[in-house]
Amino acid sequence: METSTEGVTEAAADDAGAAEAAVAAQPGTAAAGRQGAGGTEEDPGAAHAAVAAQPAEAAAPGAPTPVTAGRHEGHSTDQDPESAHAAVTAEPATDETPDPPRTDTPPATAEAVETAQPVAVPVAPASLSPSRANDFMQCPLLYRFRVIDRLPEKPSAAATRGTLVHSVLERLFDAPAGERTAPAAKSLIPGQWDRLRESRPEVLELFADDPEGERLAQWLGEAERLVERWFTLEDPTRLEPAERELFVEAELESGLRLRGIIDRVDVAPTGEVRIVDYKTGKAPRPEYAEGALFQMKFYALVVWRLKNVIPRRLQLVYLGSGDVLTYDPVLADLERVERKLLALWEAIRQATQTGDWRPRPTKLCGWCDHQEHCPEFGGTPPPYPLPVTSAIGEQGRMGPG
Ligand code: SF4
Repeated sequence: METSTEGVTEAAADDAGAAEAAVAAQPGTAAAGRQGAGGTEEDPGAAHAAVAAQPAEAAAPGAPTPVTAGRHEGHSTDQDPESAHAAVTAEPATDETPDPPRTDTPPATAEAVETAQPVAVPVAPASLSPSRANDFMQCPLLYRFRVIDRLPEKPSAAATRGTLVHSVLERLFDAPAGERTAPAAKSLIPGQWDRLRESRPEVLELFADDPEGERLAQWLGEAERLVERWFTLEDPTRLEPAERELFVEAELESGLRLRGIIDRVDVAPTGEVRIVDYKTGKAPRPEYAEGALFQMKFYALVVWRLKNVIPRRLQLVYLGSGDVLTYDPVLADLERVERKLLALWEAIRQATQTGDWRPRPTKLCGWCDHQEHCPEFGGTPPPYPLPVTSAIGEQGRMGPG
């Protein structure tokens, strides 16, 4: 098993290539592009027909006992925490820029343990979400700052807008199907913004120097445009989600606990499952699509382990560019993601024991809130708050070095 963080990242790249090859080998399993609301993707009947035309993968025998799944009443800090999941913001971005974490009240679940909320007692990592997995692959030191030190991070306009838009899209499904119109959705924005300010007063910092409210109005206007664009991609009057903001958690046979929050789960009459995630940024270029799909395959793995069913379709809806990226996973995809996560978790475990969390500078450092603590920028990390139980030499070299 690869134990260096460098190796994990390389393994990730290998996985990406392998996954792309798998896609190429299976006709019609992956697609990306602009789709109209009346298109096949969003026509439930058509989608179901397409699903039915291709038998679902057989569930693997011996899947571990499910842990839990339930409605997530707060909005994710992860997907953002999961909240993680490629630049998908209106801010200057590259195709490698991660989707900004959404900003909202963490749920009263263990999911909160992985978020960047300051707490009194540092704890060793206990589970993995897509966001935190991406953090470690991007930069082990960033992972440490977020998961172990829990250093606070400033709210960002893009992340907060993402949270707002997600909450609007979720709440819209409370209305009867015929009332799920674009004006109705936009009318939800002020109330959801009030709710977000109440639950996370720190988001007001974003507009502290905006006494006339001009930037706030502009920001809310962009949220409206993102909500409107959704109606060109999906037709909520023809959708009845089985779940929204679904917190899922499963434990692998190795003991690794995976968790995350799925924006929407659609279930066809035939029982086949579609996992949907909204992104408020732009779709990545094709060469970065695999990275974007990592989060979705992670969720697919959790659902498979939880329900013994392989989701028929994974769907990323990019509100920033008006694109929809879909992928139809097969068993081999999920097994590959599981192997990758196990290798990643082993690297995290070793770094936790040795205290060796190396920085991995990339152009994404421009988005990092922790440069003042980062040796790559002349900073010093805070004292390592966990006991060091293993020497680096005993564990092998950690980090890219
Ligand atoms: S500034 Fe860059 S290298 Fe330093 S912790 Fe942040 S992401 Fe890692």
